[in-house]
Amino acid sequence: MSYIEPAPIKDRENPFESMMSRFKIASQILGLDDEVYNVLKTPAKQVIVSLPITMDDGSINVFEGYRVIHSNILGPSKGGVRFDLGVNLDEMKALAAWMTWKCAVVDIPFGGAKGGICCDPKEMSPGEIERLVRIYTLNMIDIFGPDRDIPAPDMGSGPREMAWMMDEYSRAHGMTINSMVTGKPLVLGGSLGRVEATGRGVMVSTLSGMEKLKINPYNATCVVQGFGNVGSYAALLLEERGVKVVAISDFSGACYNAEGINIKEAIRYRDQNEGILSGLPDCEPIDPEEILFMEVDVLVPAATEDVITVKNADKINTKLIVEGANGPTSAKADSIINNKGIVVVPDILANAGGVTVSYFEWVQNRLGYKWTRERVNRRSDRIMKEAFRRVFKAAKEYSVSMRIAAYIVAIDKVAQTYKFRGGF
Ligand code: NAD
Repeated sequence: MSYIEPAPIKDRENPFESMMSRFKIASQILGLDDEVYNVLKTPAKQVIVSLPITMDDGSINVFEGYRVIHSNILGPSKGGVRFDLGVNLDEMKALAAWMTWKCAVVDIPFGGAKGGICCDPKEMSPGEIERLVRIYTLNMIDIFGPDRDIPAPDMGSGPREMAWMMDEYSRAHGMTINSMVTGKPLVLGGSLGRVEATGRGVMVSTLSGMEKLKINPYNATCVVQGFGNVGSYAALLLEERGVKVVAISDFSGACYNAEGINIKEAIRYRDQNEGILSGLPDCEPIDPEEILFMEVDVLVPAATEDVITVKNADKINTKLIVEGANGPTSAKADSIINNKGIVVVPDILANAGGVTVSYFEWVQNRLGYKWTRERVNRRSDRIMKEAFRRVFKAAKEYSVSMRIAAYIVAIDKVAQTYKFRGGF
């Protein structure tokens, strides 16, 4: 079996490159043979479409749209659709693989995919975006489907775009098919609990990690970098469970209070302050970089990728890192962090609460029934705890970090499924 390498990613600290290097380590530890390894690193399908739309000024612009399905061996593929000028095929391939491992680690019956349109939605009117979403959906009519490939929001897209996708797909089929997409508005079949799901999964992962490290949440301190969807819910839910959140940050700055920040108030302040934390009362403003180096029990990076790198990993001063963001730690920083004895709950496990509740949205749509928030939370907590347990066990069994263990668990599941299904 031959395989042509995708164009190498040039930036060595690139998060996708980091993901591939960990994938390689885990595959070697598992003793995966070359053939399975090559199958797993090759996307199953790559689609590029040309999307001409009429702009508001009457001109016609042609955009490029992508959908990469990395694997559909565990079930229909799942992954967001990104609206961003940086969208390109290599990025789609890497993100699609990432989704495969994330779904496998929490043991939900989905494969991994990613889509995107190279555009700048901030420069487009709602009408232009709607036309773009609709033509993208029509072009993907044979790719998407509740049993084939299920899109979701990603950078630059949200419930509004998902509603248009669902509508266009449904029109083409002459019936309402809301299970073809997740992240829809509640009224169209979105799930209760989805908004807070990723932060909630981070909270569950943090408490599970603390239990292993014998840290009592009521005596624990924590800092959270990033105060958007993931960071603010993670902070709020941790605070509710007794953890003292002493510092939080966003792109506007960082705030510190040794007695613990009132997170509910911080969220209220952010929402009334154009979405930013700057000027938060009862807090001391601190250097945003410093938040990573504070001496606390738990650090939750929940902002963006590549914030812990070889340049600063040595200064990290915590017992537990729980990765709310995707790819916050570069692969080169892993060994520094591991040598310091810091336990890391990796992104593909810690932030998988979101995709888990997206799965529940799909299940509810297919059942034609709505679950209560309590049921959604209870079931997602159970999935997250069980995934943590499996990864922790693998870490002990193979004497590796939880990050490599998470890849081992995920790759093993996908590889075994390939082997049983056969067909090559
Ligand atoms: P968001 O846009 O709601 O929030 C991002 C937050 O990070 C904002 O507060 C922003 O100000 C802050 N930020 C950005 N750059 C920063 C920096 N350099 N330093 C400090 N703060 C910074 O995004 P989100 O949905 O919360 O996603 C955060 C991360 O979690 C991303 O990596 C995303 O891919 C990942 N993630 C999100 C979900 C989800 O369900 N939302 C699921 C899985 C993973």
